[in-house]
Amino acid sequence: MAATIMIVDDNENAVHMTARMLSGFGFEVMTALDGPNALAQLAERRPDCILLDIMMPRMSGLEVLARLQHDPATAAIPVILLTAKSQDEDVLAGYKDGAEYYLTKPCSSRDLVYAIRLVLGSLRSQAPNPPG
Ligand SMILES: [Mg+2]
Repeated sequence: MAATIMIVDDNENAVHMTARMLSGFGFEVMTALDGPNALAQLAERRPDCILLDIMMPRMSGLEVLARLQHDPATAAIPVILLTAKSQDEDVLAGYKDGAEYYLTKPCSSRDLVYAIRLVLGSLRSQAPNPPG
């Protein structure tokens, strides 16, 4: 079964482009244009991974991340933060709050799919078994 990826970003064009690209790679896609909408959808359906923009109106990505981490129903979903170049402090805060990975925007399709596969564990599962 295809993994489901949720894209949360206030840039509608970016959401559509990323959604189309991930669909092309065979992923199921959910989208939200802000944190409250993302949280509402997550109450109904849980994706395998969340791509989370930090800079969003109403609720920042870090605030969304904190809420996800505090809810046992969503705490285990891996989160990849999407940051602008100048947000190193946000990235550190995001890791502290439980993000699995981060990418600096704009990022290539290749980097994005690599990160998704990494956090989903499908890269590790392709590695040879350890000896013994
Ligand atoms: Mg944004």
